Amino acid sequence: ITDKINALPDGANYFSLEFFPPKTPMGFANLQVRLERMSQALRPLFVTVTWGAGGSTANKSLELAEICQRQLGLTTCLHLTCTNMKRSIVDEALEQAKVLGIRNILALRGDAPRSEEYRDETLPVEEDSNRDFQYAVDLVRYIKKQYGDYFCIGVAAYPEGHADESHPEHQDPKLDLPYLVEKTKAGADFILTQLFFDVEAFDRFEAMLREDESGVFKKIPIIPGLMPIQSYQILRRTTKLSHASLPRRLLERLDAVKGDDELVKKVGVQILSEIVEHIKQRPSVGKRGFHFYTLNLEKAVSHILEDCRLIPLAYADEEALELSNGHDLLP
Ligand code: FAD
Repeated sequence: ITDKINALPDGANYFSLEFFPPKTPMGFANLQVRLERMSQALRPLFVTVTWGAGGSTANKSLELAEICQRQLGLTTCLHLTCTNMKRSIVDEALEQAKVLGIRNILALRGDAPRSEEYRDETLPVEEDSNRDFQYAVDLVRYIKKQYGDYFCIGVAAYPEGHADESHPEHQDPKLDLPYLVEKTKAGADFILTQLFFDVEAFDRFEAMLREDESGVFKKIPIIPGLMPIQSYQILRRTTKLSHASLPRRLLERLDAVKGDDELVKKVGVQILSEIVEHIKQRPSVGKRGFHFYTLNLEKAVSHILEDCRLIPLAYADEEALELSNGHDLLP
C-alpha cells in the first residue's frame, strides 16, 4: 500500500474500500459480482477485508481476501485481530495471507466477540487463551519479528478517542497518543482511522499527530475512515457502536428527511462529499487518502467518489487524454 501511495503523482488523492465477508455462499456470489463491477468502475488504490473478533470469520475473511487479491487483482489488506483467540489462528492467517500474495495487514487488538456476531462452527470457541497478545502493538511486533518487511502494516486510530466495554465514554485522544506512538515505532506503515462525522475532530486529531514531538507521525499516511450513510437506522446504530459523534447541524439535516430513505441517502452523499472536500483542502503531508466503510454496498460510495472526483482515470482514458493533448499541440 505505501509503495502504491508513494508512486502516485504529487498532489494526487486516492481512496480505499472496506468489505466484510458475507455469511452465506449466495452472499459471497453476490458480493463477488459487485466487487468486480466496483473495482472496474471505481479503481480503488486498495481494498480491506474485515476480520471477526476472536477469529470468528477467519476462513471467510481469507476466502474474501483471496477473491479480492487473486481473482480480481486488487491490492488487498487483511484486517487481523490478536486477542480472544489462539495464537495458531494468527499464525495461520499470516501464512495463508502470504500464500495468497497479500502484502498488507491491518494489525488490530480486537474486542470480545459480540453475541450477535456469527461464529464459524469449524473453529473452537476460545476464551482469552492467548497471553502473547494484549494490545495491537504486540501483533505489530510479532509480524515484524516473523516476517520482517514482507507485510506493509496498518494500525487503527481514533479521532474522537478510543472507547470500548471498559471505557464506554469517549476518551480524550491524547490519552491514546502514547500507544499510537508505540504502534508506529513498532513498525506501522500507515494509519486508518475509526469512522467519524465530526470533521473538526479529525482536523484536531491529525494536527496533534503531525505536531507530536516524537516525530513518528511526520510522514506516515493518516487515512480518514468515512462511512457513507445508507439509512437513518444504520447510521444511528453504527455511530453508537463506534462511538462516533454526529454534529448537531448534520443530525438536523438528516432528521428533516428521516422518513424518506431516498432523501436520507441523497443528503448523506452531500454530507460525506462535504467532509471529503473539507479534508482535501487541509494542508497534507504527501498524498491525501480516504478510506470508505462500504458495508458491502455500492451506490452511496460511488456517488461520493464521483462527486468528489476521486475516481482515477482508467489506463485507456489516460492514453486517450495524452493523445488528445498531443493532438491539440499540433499546428
Ligand atoms: P490497541 O491499539 O491495542 O488499543 C486498544 C486500547 O488499549 C486503547 O484504548 C489504547 O489506548 C489502549 N492501549 C494500547 N496499548 C496499551 C498499553 N501498552 N497499555 C495500556 N493501554 C494500552 N475489530 C475487529 O474485530 N475486526 C476488524 O476487522 C476491525 N477493523 C477495524 C478497522 C479500523 C480502521 C478500526 C479503527 C477499528 C477496527 N476494529 C476491528 C475495532 C478494533 O479491534 C477495536 O476498536 C479494539 O477495541 C481496539 O483495537 P486497536 O487495534 O485500536 O487496539
